[in-house]
Amino acid sequence: MSSREPTISNRLTCPFCGNDGNFFQIAEDAIITTYFRQNADGSFTQEENESQVLGDIKLFCGSCEEELPPEFLERFTEMVF
Ligand SMILES: [Zn+2]
Repeated sequence: MSSREPTISNRLTCPFCGNDGNFFQIAEDAIITTYFRQNADGSFTQEENESQVLGDIKLFCGSCEEELPPEFLERFTEMVF
């Protein structure tokens, strides 16, 4: 019988304030293309949205708003599903 808890070693934690709950990303130079269909009454319905990021993507801590190092962004990108 084992009482060992599984350890999650790959949780991202802000090195500045210890926050591991909220993060945000900023994309520089993004082209966002939105497709619309015009309805019979002249109104428009949004069909789909495409975004292409040309510049850098940066990851920030949602708590202290410090920019996180590139290896954090790498890990973050791998863990977004
Ligand atoms: Zn932080």
